[in-house]
Amino acid sequence: MRISKSWEEKCRRCGRCCYEKVEHEGDIYYTDIPCEKLDQATRLCTVYENRHKARPGCVRLTPRIIARGVLPADCPYVEEIEDYRAPHPWPEEES
Ligand code: SF4
Repeated sequence: MRISKSWEEKCRRCGRCCYEKVEHEGDIYYTDIPCEKLDQATRLCTVYENRHKARPGCVRLTPRIIARGVLPADCPYVEEIEDYRAPHPWPEEES
């Protein structure tokens, strides 16, 4: 997929999608584990231009991937998706 400049410019660089997520029974959950390439002070990826080689698990954002619910509900990439289901926090374990 060719990435256009306008596609890239939608990102507000909040870094919230750069936390590990888990999929469980068809739902996607956030974790509080950041990607090791995320600079938590600037909220920017430290290997952005080379991220798919430097961090093989980094998912390329395409419209199909985004529609699976991997981005927060207020992310500009999902604002026009009807009935978008954002990731949820992992339920607290009962003690
Ligand atoms: S959550 Fe959306 S706006 Fe924030 S860094 Fe990820 S793609 Fe960019």
